[in-house]
Formats: sequence, structure tokens, C-alpha cells
Amino acid sequence: RLSGRLAAVAAYVDEGASLADIGSDHAYLPCHLALSGKILKGIAGEVAAGPYESAVQTIHEAGLGEKVQARLADGLAAIRPEDRIDTVSIAGMGGPLIASILENGKERLEGVSRLILQPNINARSIREWGMANGWVLAAEEILKEDGKIYEVLVLERGEAVYGEKELLFGPFLMTGQNEAFREKWERERKSWQAILRQMEQSSRDEEISDRKEGLRQAIHLVT
Ligand code: SAM
Repeated sequence: RLSGRLAAVAAYVDEGASLADIGSDHAYLPCHLALSGKILKGIAGEVAAGPYESAVQTIHEAGLGEKVQARLADGLAAIRPEDRIDTVSIAGMGGPLIASILENGKERLEGVSRLILQPNINARSIREWGMANGWVLAAEEILKEDGKIYEVLVLERGEAVYGEKELLFGPFLMTGQNEAFREKWERERKSWQAILRQMEQSSRDEEISDRKEGLRQAIHLVT
């Protein structure tokens, strides 16, 4: 059984897709989707030997050797042209790391029409990367599981220009505004306010006035 977080990613994989799950660790996501018959084929990419071995084991135990393949590779280098991958998922990492994996392997995305990304922090860096590289947000989710709040971003080919608030909050999430969304930004606002208070108490230094102003503006955005 998948966690709620990975189930939210799985829900955006189309029936009959060929999926590359990058940073797959145990390969739970591609194996689950292959067992349920949703994907035709799955690649579980891993850069680290331990998680790669775990992926090999999960695939073997599930008897999925024909459908899912583990590859020891850095980022999108796990994808080969003959795989005809149309969907890429990257989950459970920071947004900047996900964006750098996409940036460094752009040429491997040629046949890919959907990216399903689940950043643990800083989803904004993914929205910025998408906007600069011909991808638009097609859907977004935000959910809370075991006290943590997760975002899922679905990108498809297209052009869009996002403003400051859309980049920070997400164009779909800011219009939906569910309980998890409100809680996330309430938490962020409190932590920024605490940092600002500390800076105001500990220093009157002019050098940090820019940072203080940046924090005030950020707090204003989420208030
Ligand atoms: N995707 C799974 C999930 O969401 O439950 C596993 C997340 S785990 C926290 C992150 C995994 O990404 C680790 O196993 C790590 O080795 C892998 N990883 C980090 N950078 C990577 C890269 N450049 N290429 C492939 N895998 C990477």
C-alpha cells in the first residue's frame, strides 16, 4: 500500500503510461503502478547504491522483472530513448534538487509529456524552472500526512507567465485554499516572523536591512 503522498503522485499517472521514477528508492511507486496494471513499463532510477539495491529487491519480490527496471544513474540519465518514457515522477526531495535534476537532464525529456513532482520544500523553484523551460502547471495538490505537509505539482508542455504569488503559492493551490494550504502558510508566516523578530533584537546593522525588508514583504504576501 502506498503512502498518501505517493498515492497522490500515482493518481496523476495516466493509464497505459511509460513511467520513469527518478530517486525511486525502494521503487514502491513504479511497482505499485505496474502491479495494478496502470503503467505499461516503469524505470526506477537511483543514484545511490543502497536504494538501488532496495529497488532491485522490490522488483524481484513482486515478480515485475519484465515491466519494471532499476537503473543506477544520476537523475534523468536513467532514461534511454528506447524506453519511450512519456511520464517522469520525482518525489520526496527538495524543490531545488528536483529542478536541478530536470535542468541537468533536459535533453532526455524529449518524448515526455507529463512531469509529476513532489517537492518536500520550496515548490517555487520548480514553478520557476517550468516557466523558463516551456512547462505549465496542469494541476497541483497539497496534503497533510503524519503531521507533514506535501505538495504535488503536475507539469505539461506549454507557455505561461506566473506572477510572484502564483510562483510562491501555486496557481491551483491558491485558488483552492484547503486546510493543508492554510496551515502550511500559517506555519511559514510564523517562522518568518520569528526570524525577523530575532534579527530586529540582535542587530541594528544596516547590512541586514535588505534581508529584513525581504522577510517583511514575504510576511505581507502570506498575510
Ligand atoms: N521517491 C521516493 C519517495 O518519494 O518516497 C524516495 C525519496 S528519497 C527521500 C530520495 C531518493 O532520491 C534517495 O533514495 C536518493 O538516493 C535519490 N536521489 C537523490 N538525488 C538523485 C539523483 N540526482 N538521481 C537519482 N536519484 C537521486
